[in-house]
Amino acid sequence: MIKTDILIIGSGIAGYYALNELLKANPDANAVMVTSDPDYPYDRPPLSKEYLRGQRDKPFFKAPEYYSGFKNLKILLNTSVEEIKTSKKEAILSNGDSVEFEKALIATGGRPRRLNVSGSDLKGIYYLRTLRDSDEIKEAMKRSKNPVIVGGGFIGIEAAASMATLGLRPTVIEMLPHIWTTFVDEKVSEHIRSYFEKKGVKIITGEAVKEFEGREGKVETVVTQSGKRIEADMVLVAIGIVPNVELAQKSGIDVNNGILTDEYLRTNVKDIYAAGDVANIYDPNLGKRRRIEHWNNAWYTGRLAIRNMLKGDIEAYNFLSTVWSDIFDIHIESGGETRDYDNYIIKGNMESNKFIVVYSKGGTIVGYVAFNWDMKDLDRLNDLIMKKASLSEYS
Ligand SMILES: Cc1cc2nc3c(=O)[nH]c(=O)nc-3n(C[C@H](O)[C@H](O)[C@H](O)COP(=O)(O)OP(=O)(O)OC[C@H]3O[C@@H](n4cnc5c(N)ncnc54)[C@H](O)[C@@H]3O)c2cc1C
Repeated sequence: MIKTDILIIGSGIAGYYALNELLKANPDANAVMVTSDPDYPYDRPPLSKEYLRGQRDKPFFKAPEYYSGFKNLKILLNTSVEEIKTSKKEAILSNGDSVEFEKALIATGGRPRRLNVSGSDLKGIYYLRTLRDSDEIKEAMKRSKNPVIVGGGFIGIEAAASMATLGLRPTVIEMLPHIWTTFVDEKVSEHIRSYFEKKGVKIITGEAVKEFEGREGKVETVVTQSGKRIEADMVLVAIGIVPNVELAQKSGIDVNNGILTDEYLRTNVKDIYAAGDVANIYDPNLGKRRRIEHWNNAWYTGRLAIRNMLKGDIEAYNFLSTVWSDIFDIHIESGGETRDYDNYIIKGNMESNKFIVVYSKGGTIVGYVAFNWDMKDLDRLNDLIMKKASLSEYS
């Protein structure tokens, strides 16, 4: 049995930044990080962008030697926490060992949602979440002539842009009438679509995948519900994530679309916190719960959880989570609410991909989507959204 003050479960963005915050506050902190990932902590956004395109090295946050510089820190790779015996504050590990802790942070993130149709176990069908997934996809792309991407959301669109940048001509199949609809509204979605089509990406919307057909165990054709047949020598399925809540469920921690936390990131079990994609957090500014699947929120909540674990629960969630993406030569930023609005203004020029759409509801600014826009202006806009300012205050 290992004994520790702080146990961090997961080495993704929330877990890594939690550890970072802890070591900043106290380099001698007694801490254990347990992660099912076989690799030391790394960043995820490059996995669908520069790293996938072979334009940068593996995106590790720090070299492995860095962690051995902290004498009271233990990192267990390739190891899962299977259950937490909450009454004994003991985490049971997949390697048969256990960790007794004072406080624990669950930052188990999410895993790709699987597409369960006939043929989905054929070779050549990929999912993207980890560094090793990205390595496999990168290898397959080298041999591919006709890649197909199922899902026109965040990861699918970024991977399509990366493939097209490398000279491939991917086909994206999206079930909904528009691509990227959790991120941008229809007008911006249509703008992105036409830009992608100009770059050689074929986009099919309003079509769900019925099955995959293959030969000798390898995928060859994607068949849609309406009977379209699309040849594919590789398929990337990117249809969202499922939060990794099983550990919490098994341990008697409240779960409902993620692990439920209050504004201090506390779960219903004393001394156990949750952060990142897996946490369904009460946001006092909005007066409601939200589970957010983006980097900035994982970075913010990982650090916030550790501060509250160390100093007592004094700092409430107070953050406007923003999202970014890079596709071709466009840097996209989005913040706040971009779907539930009754008015909007557009500044800049859509044709030259330098513009911002600012959304309001009842006269109050609620969100924005910006393409290649000045970050200082966006910082100002983030403040205005947090202050619930009126649209007229943004000029
Ligand atoms: C390819 C890709 C590109 C992205 N690009 C962007 C972007 O451009 N902008 C943006 O805002 N967001 C982006 N995201 C989303 C962003 O990376 C996630 O929001 C972020 O990774 C969430 O961090 P997390 O720590 O909550 O979860 P994760 O990063 O998923 O980490 C979860 C960790 O928990 C571990 N784990 C799970 N279960 C257990 C267990 N039982 N025991 C021990 N360990 C466990 C996993 O191995 C992993 O280390 C991207 C995501 C991907 C996959």
